[in-house]
Amino acid sequence: MSGASQAMHFKARAGDKLADRILQGALKKAQPLFTAKRRKGMASLAADGLDFAAMRAAAQAIRQRVLDDLDVWLEIFEARAVAAGAEVLWARDGAEAARLIVELAQREGVRTVTKSKSMLSEEAGLNAALTAAGIRPVETDLGEYIVQLAQEPPSHIIAPAVHKTIAQVEALFAEAHGRPQLARTSADIPKMADEARQVLRRDFLAADMGISGANFLIAETGSAALVTNEGNGRMVTTLPRLHVVLTGIEKIVPTLEDFATLMRLLPRSATGQDISNYVSLLTGSRRDGDLDGPQKTVFVLVDNGRAGLLGGAFEPMLRCIRCGACMNHCPVYFALGGHAYGWVYPGPMGSVLTPLYTGLENALDLPHASTGCNQCGSVCPVGIPLPDLLHGLREAQNARGLRPPGERLTMRLWGWLARHPRSYRLLIRLAARYLHWLGDDDAAGRRIRIFGLAPAWTAGRDLPVGPGRSFFEQYAARKRD
Ligand code: SF4
Repeated sequence: MSGASQAMHFKARAGDKLADRILQGALKKAQPLFTAKRRKGMASLAADGLDFAAMRAAAQAIRQRVLDDLDVWLEIFEARAVAAGAEVLWARDGAEAARLIVELAQREGVRTVTKSKSMLSEEAGLNAALTAAGIRPVETDLGEYIVQLAQEPPSHIIAPAVHKTIAQVEALFAEAHGRPQLARTSADIPKMADEARQVLRRDFLAADMGISGANFLIAETGSAALVTNEGNGRMVTTLPRLHVVLTGIEKIVPTLEDFATLMRLLPRSATGQDISNYVSLLTGSRRDGDLDGPQKTVFVLVDNGRAGLLGGAFEPMLRCIRCGACMNHCPVYFALGGHAYGWVYPGPMGSVLTPLYTGLENALDLPHASTGCNQCGSVCPVGIPLPDLLHGLREAQNARGLRPPGERLTMRLWGWLARHPRSYRLLIRLAARYLHWLGDDDAAGRRIRIFGLAPAWTAGRDLPVGPGRSFFEQYAARKRD
């Protein structure tokens, strides 16, 4: 782990984000767009005669086959990539990855680095490491460019600036581009994108090194597959004399055919597109006779906690193809936005990955940042059982004594009651009567305003009052009638 984690402050951050009206407005606008896009993607899958469940099973099997023999696939990838003219470096963690890239840049006399979106760069804290070494990193994905100007981390894995309003982006552009601020509407978005394009063009031409992530690493050919909707990915990977591919070791897929299968699901799950605007397969370095391409391509493949998950209960998380569908359908994510999660990955996938990569004790609240609705699990294109993994993390926290003593005692008591049905029923009968007695009457019915045993829960909402009889009592009465 390298990029600093603020995940321990989830609750405090969540409170701030709920009170941020500008953020709430931006999130409210974005969510229906995301869910509508995936619906469209699923409809186009069906129109092509493809069944989501069957495609998901196939995608899951591909990803699982890789994880079952990851060491072998990585060796095959390395051999093919080297044979195609690339270099492969290995990093145990983000700090080592950042060190390798900074050293490479210094050896090669690099002053400016253009970057295409890479979440691993965030894990590695790469921009800070490059800047500290006197090297200028320039984010060129439009969303990443915006958050770099705002000096913020991305708040979504495929839409880094989803939390920003047009007015906020305009203020950032006016300041960074040295011009007066203008009144902007959504009709001006193409103009604003063009402005960013003009500014970035100078950096594309000046950069000595381009750094990209990789959506997949194809073992069969030793290639990096890059899936983007902006042309910046191709500028970053072909214009500078050096190209660094920075990604995680789990991104391998065995063959081009497997890649094609995953590509039927990735864009549809992410943006609802049948295919993204640019799908690039980058293999080796520039060969004799090639008109463009980098003189040198270096893969930096990073572990950062991934190998430790292999063969364990949380291994399914390594199947993730970073489509963002889980967060796009998560009521918690869209109530708070990505920054509340405090590290690189937000939403349900982040609530699993952050404790696994940064330590259970450093992200205590994240496995609990879920309503348990399973929307995330149902849309995940590689069948990751996200709610089960969140439950597993909660159990692991309990087993390590990381939850508050009162909560652990309550859980133990609950476990005892669940094994003793008579006591359970008696307690539930008493509780039903007590809760009924606590309620006040008003026009909306009987409500409990503040419930002492759940003060945080009832601080923001009233608890409806039940009929004063337990479910068992009502069920038995109904059977008698
Ligand atoms: S966990 Fe599943 S839905 Fe979420 S980003 Fe990963 S692949 Fe997509």
